[in-house]
Amino acid sequence: MTWRATVLTLFPEMFPGPLGVSLAGRALAACLWALEARDIRDSATDRHRSVDDTPAGGGPGMVLRADVLARAIDAAEVSPDRPRLLMSPRGRPLTQSRVAELAAGPGPLVVCGRFEGVDQRVIEARGLEEVSVGDYVLSGGEIPAMALIDACVRLLPGVMGKAESGADESFSHGLLEYPQYTRPQEFEGRPIPEVLLSGDHARVDAWRRAEAEALTRARRTDLWAEWSRQIPPKDKTSG
Ligand code: SAH
Repeated sequence: MTWRATVLTLFPEMFPGPLGVSLAGRALAACLWALEARDIRDSATDRHRSVDDTPAGGGPGMVLRADVLARAIDAAEVSPDRPRLLMSPRGRPLTQSRVAELAAGPGPLVVCGRFEGVDQRVIEARGLEEVSVGDYVLSGGEIPAMALIDACVRLLPGVMGKAESGADESFSHGLLEYPQYTRPQEFEGRPIPEVLLSGDHARVDAWRRAEAEALTRARRTDLWAEWSRQIPPKDKTSG
């Protein structure tokens, strides 16, 4: 079965958008994955096709109605084995390991919020898993949904050129990626590190590992602490 993303949004015209070009777009055209963007507004029932209302208890902005969104979710008829996600700044921050899990499954339903967010009761009643793309607030869930889908799609079989090119990247082993270089051999007086031109694969691997550890340690104390817990000190290239 083809991996499939079903997106519920008030702006289906935003899709495929960036997912229609380059790696993800070529894979979409080749039917290596499928995308369905459904308009939440199609599930509105009143004359004005309204989807939102003022927050109970007062305050600024509008809230997506539980009944309209629940109807939209039900109308999408996603099978029970597919994860049901709600993009939300309150959610658990998305990680590469969660992305890998989602990519290995049948593909999620992704609900995109707008306005001040969605009525809490539909989150509970439809068992939506809230997922955040970072500690900042965007105006809608569409760009977060695209980020999540893009991260999944590039891991699908046949999407990336070399099967292992996803295996060595940032986060996949709990470390940030080592620095990359390509031609020219010298750029504005800066040479490529000599070891990378040595042809000695063991030395190259050791250098990359040490660089990845040094970068992670300097930039991401959270990842470094986790890595240090998991990897016995004798297996590390730096202390
Ligand atoms: N009032 C809400 C923010 C609403 S932003 C709050 O303070 O939590 C409107 C919509 O944009 C949200 O419903 C969500 O779907 C999306 N969104 C905004 N920032 C996001 C983030 N960091 N991660 C995932 N979704 C986000």
